[in-house]
Amino acid sequence: MIKSIIIIIFESLFMFIAGNWKMNCNVKEAGEIAENLSSLECLSSNIEVAVFPPFILLPEVYQKLHSSTILIGAQDCSQYSNGAYTGQVSLEMLREFGCSHVILGHSERRTLLNESSSIVKLKSIQTISYGLKPIICIGETLLERENHTYLSTIEKQLKNSLPDFNEIDYQDKEIIIAYEPIWAIGTGKVASEKNIYEIHTFIYNLLINNFNYIKNFKLIYGGSVKSSNASIIRNIKNVDGVLVGGASIVAKEFIEIIKKFN
Ligand code: PEP
Repeated sequence: MIKSIIIIIFESLFMFIAGNWKMNCNVKEAGEIAENLSSLECLSSNIEVAVFPPFILLPEVYQKLHSSTILIGAQDCSQYSNGAYTGQVSLEMLREFGCSHVILGHSERRTLLNESSSIVKLKSIQTISYGLKPIICIGETLLERENHTYLSTIEKQLKNSLPDFNEIDYQDKEIIIAYEPIWAIGTGKVASEKNIYEIHTFIYNLLINNFNYIKNFKLIYGGSVKSSNASIIRNIKNVDGVLVGGASIVAKEFIEIIKKFN
């Protein structure tokens, strides 16, 4: 018990900043952003920064970043190892291009591609078993917020997306949960401090009470994060970092956000 409390306190000192490029950038633009980030000096040892380019740009970004402290991740992965899965990309392939993290169940995939929590769970199992870290995205719609059903949505998504203890050997594996209210993604409408605190504390308590075999986790917030609101978000209890979309493809702005966490 004491050991797990120490692990959680220790872990929460570390901040994780993720840049989800979505379906943006050509090779030249990707290379330029990566080059700008690779010249970032004096990143404190308490902060990890990762970028998530489209699959096809991973070789370019890997070439620019593989000897820097900036990490690379993918926006999705296949739940299968290899074979007749047209259009899918395996964990083995992602590992070859230096990926350490995979975003799973982003609301744009859940909404536009009908990706269910059970698929997210399978992808999480695959990601963890290949030694990469999953960033599992959950969050409510505007309607669910207005109906006051958002807590049950979040609880359901979390419970159905996270593998059980008998499905994966968690040991000290890091799991990242990104709380991303759908109404705040790409809208310029950031959730209030009160909203973020409420949900992060809710998720934190769910993990402690229902998933006590997960000893190593981070809770990050996503939804219209910018350099102008990053410091406020950083200081909210149970926030261990941010998932940045639009602002992460403007190198100068993304670097300003990183500096607020540094
Ligand atoms: C996202 O893509 O996960 C996201 C949070 O986007 P934005 O920062 O543009 O709202």
